[in-house]
Amino acid sequence: MFISISIPLADETRVRPYTIASSPEDGDLFEIVFNRVPGGAGVAWLFERKAGDEINFTGPFGAFTLERAPERELVFIAEGTAIAPIRPMLRRVFEQKPGHPVRLLYAADRVEHLLFRGEIEGHAIAHPQFQFETIIADGGQEALYARIMAEVERRWVVTDNDRMRHFYVCGIGAGVLRIRDLLRGAGYERRAVRYEQW
Ligand SMILES: Cc1cc2nc3c(=O)[nH]c(=O)nc-3n(C[C@H](O)[C@H](O)[C@H](O)COP(=O)(O)OP(=O)(O)OC[C@H]3O[C@@H](n4cnc5c(N)ncnc54)[C@H](O)[C@@H]3O)c2cc1C
Repeated sequence: MFISISIPLADETRVRPYTIASSPEDGDLFEIVFNRVPGGAGVAWLFERKAGDEINFTGPFGAFTLERAPERELVFIAEGTAIAPIRPMLRRVFEQKPGHPVRLLYAADRVEHLLFRGEIEGHAIAHPQFQFETIIADGGQEALYARIMAEVERRWVVTDNDRMRHFYVCGIGAGVLRIRDLLRGAGYERRAVRYEQW
């Protein structure tokens, strides 16, 4: 789920979506995380806000959510800040004590940009069926997605014939659609490959 924040710049008012990175169980307060992207005037405005400042937003909106863990292996794939929608999904899944493997493949350009790492490693310690793996690739967006694509292809396309897994993919730009197309093209059901492109 995301909220749409209204960002008043000098020459325009932008509306940008930001994902709720916390869980409904956390109560009235919710968390968002944002990345200072090069040339991103909207997010630069957000970085200038201080504690106590008010912001205008609408929402929540969105359908990239997970209510019940499927009775199948579940694979999450995320990059950088796009772990935000996956974080509450992981919590929801583990509350339901899944009987199938749960995997997270999480990529970033630097180790410091793997968000909520301690928390995710905590899930891996508490839940033996959870496998958490990371990819670090610092050659830019294209290189990062090339690495993710190669890993996805090697693990879940060429090395076995199981096509019952469910995927949740979140990331930035066209790379997300390439991952979606790779999986659906390999025979995974359309509804079993859910994604959100930022
Ligand atoms: C459904 C949805 C949920 C989103 N949730 C979040 C969130 O929780 N946190 C967050 O930081 N952003 C999130 N975004 C992206 C966010 O809405 C803005 O696009 C981003 O903050 C840049 O806005 P801008 O106006 O500053 O720059 P723009 O001029 O709109 O964008 C500049 C460039 O930054 C790229 N970009 C956008 N977001 C990121 C990012 N997070 N990391 C790297 N590159 C990026 C864009 O592809 C674009 O090329 C989400 C987008 C969508 C569609």
